[in-house]
Amino acid sequence: MFREFLIVGAGFAGSVIARELADAGHSVLVIDKRPHIAGNAYDKHDAHGVLVHSYGPHIFHTNGVRIFAYLSRFTEWRPYEHRVRSIVGGRALPFPINRDTLNQLYGLNLDEPAAAAFFERAREPRDPVHSSEDVVLNSVGRDLYEKFFLNYTRKQWGLEPSQLKAGVAARIPVRTNTDDRYFTDTFQAMPLHGYTRMFEAILDHPRITVELGVDFNDVRDRIERDHTVYTGPIDAYFGYCFGRLPYRSLSFEHEHLPGVERFQETGTVNYPNDHAYTRITEFKHLTGQVHSGTSIVREYPQAEGEPYYPVPREENEALFKRYEGLAKAERDVTFVGRLAQYRYYNMDQVVGAALAAAKRLLD
Ligand code: FAD
Ligand code: UDP
Repeated sequence: MFREFLIVGAGFAGSVIARELADAGHSVLVIDKRPHIAGNAYDKHDAHGVLVHSYGPHIFHTNGVRIFAYLSRFTEWRPYEHRVRSIVGGRALPFPINRDTLNQLYGLNLDEPAAAAFFERAREPRDPVHSSEDVVLNSVGRDLYEKFFLNYTRKQWGLEPSQLKAGVAARIPVRTNTDDRYFTDTFQAMPLHGYTRMFEAILDHPRITVELGVDFNDVRDRIERDHTVYTGPIDAYFGYCFGRLPYRSLSFEHEHLPGVERFQETGTVNYPNDHAYTRITEFKHLTGQVHSGTSIVREYPQAEGEPYYPVPREENEALFKRYEGLAKAERDVTFVGRLAQYRYYNMDQVVGAALAAAKRLLD
């Protein structure tokens, strides 16, 4: 029997589920409190005609053949491998740390076995590895930890690396070779015409209606539906009844530089030890756009504001579990996505979670 669904949030989680349900014959109303679709992956042309990501740089990468094939129904791709430099001691060094980073930083000439031996000497073995501090000290030791990780992490999270779960720093590999790509996934590409265009294609279905500028809290008792899919912050859904779950926010400072064709050598440059911002991204690297000027964004981490990152700490996960208990008892609501599941998901992981949730709803 066909049913009526309400989907809260037009980001990856909400849009992918909406499409799956509509393809299966159901009627779907998607609402988002923002004036646009695509959630945090939203991109648009700025006032100078440069395609920018409003909520910070979004680089698509996945090892999921199925996930890449799924999104390929809705977009063509531009191959793109992201590279990052980190400013340490006034120099732009390859990051993640690789052999070239060691050689440039310390004036060495290590080959691969010598780089491995370097890390072996430098590392402070930790067993078990619980925190992000453990992860980095255990792999590269104190000097590299202090130069590349400690202050960046303090800035990004407002916490010590010892207060964050291992998974945060474990996102960053350490390499003995000279591979300077940020990611090594099988598929690394950007939607050829941008994320928003891809989302338009996902949501372009006769059984999907999208209403923007609509807050769930204002309509939750008014909209008739058989089932709700909620992709916003889980604590907000339950009226913060157990207290607020911490989410880290950012403020984005966008800037256009007329007449500057290239501002920096790589898509992103990290500033672990200088400035209040963590990194600067220049969008033309990501999109391949040709333009006489360039547009960049600086990211300033902050505690207050739109929730962007769940904060992976034991005590936060314990609080999330209490909300998850309430969520499980809510029979006619499905909770999916980075904010609703309180997981530090990349885009591809959200697509995977959304496809799995849609399958459960359709079975
Ligand atoms: P969201 O995109 O947050 O969508 C949720 C939507 O729900 C929002 O549009 C919100 O407005 C809406 N909503 C919330 N509450 C309500 C309400 N009460 N009523 C109505 N609507 C509501 N991932 C990568 O794979 N690669 C990257 O390079 C990358 N870079 C990132 C950089 C930054 C700065 C950030 C913050 C994230 C980055 N991510 C990246 C992660 C990526 O943004 C997320 O994995 C993905 O966008 C999450 O999708 P989602 O649908 O779960 O959530
Ligand atoms: N990190 C760091 N120094 C860097 C880059 C990252 O210490 O130059 C740490 C920091 O704690 C950060 C985490 O590694 O939050 C994950 O970095 P990633 O670039 O994956 O973060 P995201 O792109 O999700 O903001």
